[in-house]
Amino acid sequence: MKKCLPIMFISFIFASFFCFKFSSVQDLNKDKPNSSYESFGKSGIYSSDLDKIDEESYLMDSPVKTAYESEKAKEVFLTFDDGPCNNNTKKILNILKDNNIKATFFIIGTKGEENPQILKELSDNGMSVGVHTYSHKYNEIYKNTDSYFKDYYNCQRVIRRITGRDPAPYLRMPGGSDNLVASKKILDNIKNILRQKDLKYVDWNVSSGDAESCKVSVEKIKKNVIDQCKNKKIAVILMHDTYYKNTTVEALPYIVKTLKDEGFIFKTFDDITQNEETQMVKMRVINRISI
Ligand SMILES: [Zn+2]
Repeated sequence: MKKCLPIMFISFIFASFFCFKFSSVQDLNKDKPNSSYESFGKSGIYSSDLDKIDEESYLMDSPVKTAYESEKAKEVFLTFDDGPCNNNTKKILNILKDNNIKATFFIIGTKGEENPQILKELSDNGMSVGVHTYSHKYNEIYKNTDSYFKDYYNCQRVIRRITGRDPAPYLRMPGGSDNLVASKKILDNIKNILRQKDLKYVDWNVSSGDAESCKVSVEKIKKNVIDQCKNKKIAVILMHDTYYKNTTVEALPYIVKTLKDEGFIFKTFDDITQNEETQMVKMRVINRISI
């Protein structure tokens, strides 16, 4: 027993030393604001939250999302000039109704007076009806700014009287805004005054080519439209709904189906948004200023 005493004493000293050391470590950890576990855990949570916020703000501002959104918003504006007439305009309206889509008709005032019923029908069926011209006589319209605006307001009055509605402030100038019939000086003056009056002149970035000759083939019209719509986020298509443009009518169902299949949404100048208008100004389809 006497031999055991020194061993027991040494064991006691060692045990006390280790107990003290262990409790000191625990006390030190108790006072730390973050234990090693909390520190790891919190930093994990924070960093993943930050990642999430970064990801969200990245998606909000990144060109990736912008491209994705604009990809979704592929839009087409079908526009028909020079009507209404008593055969093809009605047929076009029926095709549009069958497909549950709307289009814009830039009309000739005298044709509206000759065919008031079809003009009213266009408006009553939610089609956008805008001013093209009253007389469509280039030499008279583009003589000077006064003659242009006299013609413009004559057409506007016809639309008001027959449809009971004011036309949208979007118009199509006969021959387009940079036609070669009028002198550049007169055209520039007309366009300046239009912009001052907040009237917007609309050209096109897709031409069906249906006015290039008396009779353009159905296949040519289809190809012109579909080819030119490729890679466009906003397509404004020029077509004509006059008495002899039968091939335009024949090409239309295929054009509508193909554009629908390609993801285009059909819009008119009655439901155009500010953003779409801004895009079209940049694209030089609306209010194009000649260089
Ligand atoms: Zn025209």
